[in-house]
Amino acid sequence: MKLSRLRACDSCSGPIVRPGRPQLHRIVVDDGFVLGTAANQVLGMTQVFQGSLALAEAMVPDPEVVKFLSEADVGALTELLFCADCYGTGLVEPAGLILHRLVEQRRRKVKGL
Ligand SMILES: [Zn+2]
Repeated sequence: MKLSRLRACDSCSGPIVRPGRPQLHRIVVDDGFVLGTAANQVLGMTQVFQGSLALAEAMVPDPEVVKFLSEADVGALTELLFCADCYGTGLVEPAGLILHRLVEQRRRKVKGL
């Protein structure tokens, strides 16, 4: 990210970094939706293949049943920047603490911890 793209913290509106605390946090939100008909095709084929989702996905025309708006328009992404105080402690807004916990949970799950 270029320095020119930095802006104030989206939570507290303060400086995004502070002396001695150069870290910041970025959260990108991408809205998505499930295509009902396509999902039903996969689920139907899953029954045909006795529960094998992998085989079902291989047999349908389009197994990508979840679409995100950013697939059509990168500008659809919503980027939030948080200073270390807001993100790390959640003291400014309780939602920051919840968000921090959820991100840490997801990271542990992805890493298999
Ligand atoms: Zn902040």
